[in-house]
Amino acid sequence: MVPTPSVNAGQKRLFRRTRWRLAAWYASILGVISSVGGVAIYRIAVYAHQITLEAELESAALVLHETLEPLLEVPGQLHPDATHFFPSACLAQDDCLQLTPVELQAIELIARDKYYIRLLAPSHKLLAVVGKQPKALQITKSDGKWQYLTDDDGVHYRQISLDLYLPDAQQWGSIQVGRSLQDFETYVANLQWMILIGVPGIVLLLAIASRYLADQAMQPIYQSYGQIQQFTADAAHELRTPLSAIRATVESMLMTPSLDEEEVRTNLRTIRRQDLQLSQLVADLLMLCRMDQQLSMFPKLPKEGDEVDLKDLAQAVTEEFAALALASALHLSTQLQTTSPLKVAGDSGQLHRLISNLVANALRYTPAEGKVTLILDRRADHALVHVQDTGIGIAPEELPRIFDRFYRVKNHQTIEVKGSGLGLSIAQAIAQTHRGKIQVQSELDKGSTFTVWLPMTDS
Ligand code: ADP
Repeated sequence: MVPTPSVNAGQKRLFRRTRWRLAAWYASILGVISSVGGVAIYRIAVYAHQITLEAELESAALVLHETLEPLLEVPGQLHPDATHFFPSACLAQDDCLQLTPVELQAIELIARDKYYIRLLAPSHKLLAVVGKQPKALQITKSDGKWQYLTDDDGVHYRQISLDLYLPDAQQWGSIQVGRSLQDFETYVANLQWMILIGVPGIVLLLAIASRYLADQAMQPIYQSYGQIQQFTADAAHELRTPLSAIRATVESMLMTPSLDEEEVRTNLRTIRRQDLQLSQLVADLLMLCRMDQQLSMFPKLPKEGDEVDLKDLAQAVTEEFAALALASALHLSTQLQTTSPLKVAGDSGQLHRLISNLVANALRYTPAEGKVTLILDRRADHALVHVQDTGIGIAPEELPRIFDRFYRVKNHQTIEVKGSGLGLSIAQAIAQTHRGKIQVQSELDKGSTFTVWLPMTDS
């Protein structure tokens, strides 16, 4: 693995710009949502307040209307009994501003000092007034029975007018119930201020939060960018070694004036060896890319494919590596710890590669006279393949990195062993595409056990 390539100034600028752009997008979208939300809340609150206010006025007017109508006899004249409901009723020209406690619940509203009740003759002549009497009321807007009015002091009023009829359907006059909109307008003004200050405040907080969110969103991109850079640098480094060897061999052949046949053959064998190494490396890289794609496209889908019997597979791998084990003076064997079949769905070639990589590693990192054992077991609905060796082991601080692409442990025991650092990455990618995993336990100078977990088809 080559040292992690550093991010240059241009790339840093690009990341910074992207982060700010992302933050600006977040802030604008959230800002628009909260502004629209603020306006909507304002409108709903004003509307609800207005509806309540009008409902109060209307119910008071209706109660008075229902109560008064039976007492009316002569158009435009108030029966003496009506004074029961209008204790302070008086003719328009009298002083009517004094408020009196009243008996009926509806008239109780008047005591709140914001309602007034007026009785009018059919000619619109004012007959009686109860409650606060605004001076010089002018209708500013009329909509059927509802009116907006303004008095001398510029105070706004909302008023409801209902016609009063005699039993013979002759119009007696009308009743008007109104109230000042001062407290309503104060409420609306306060609400406006709250929204005017609150929304920019919220937008500011959202902008700060957006910057943080953009940072968080960029982290994985930043990391995978680093990984791609590292991967590219490592791949280039690994490819360069055999390519340089081939070039050196060819150049030395060209520079030698006359080569005998044996020398040519030796050089060609060197080129073929390097070419094989290159082809293997390219095949490994392609395989990793394909599996990455598979994992990103179908991370949860079961691996489709043949049914593979892990017992047969382990047996085949053991037989293939028997000669190599013998040559390295190692004892290679298989142990079955379950009698039940161990069948998994998947690609037999890939699963073969997975077990082979682990066995090949165990043989390479175990000194002569050591033991390498393939143990097959089952745990609930998973088949387990343990590849156990009595080799050099792996230091605890190296364990988290050994599955990284191109990562190789570098110490005096591994320096002699050739490898690209892709074996375990490939094994892990194969396990993952088969919905499985690989675990490792290791102790320096005692040995390692790699355990593959694969879901079984009969589970
Ligand atoms: P390599 O081509 O270097 O073997 P791998 O990805 O297969 O690459 O392994 C990564 C590293 O993990 C190796 O360099 C080696 O140090 C360590 N390793 C893997 N398997 C074993 C093992 N059975 N015993 C000790 N070390 C191992």
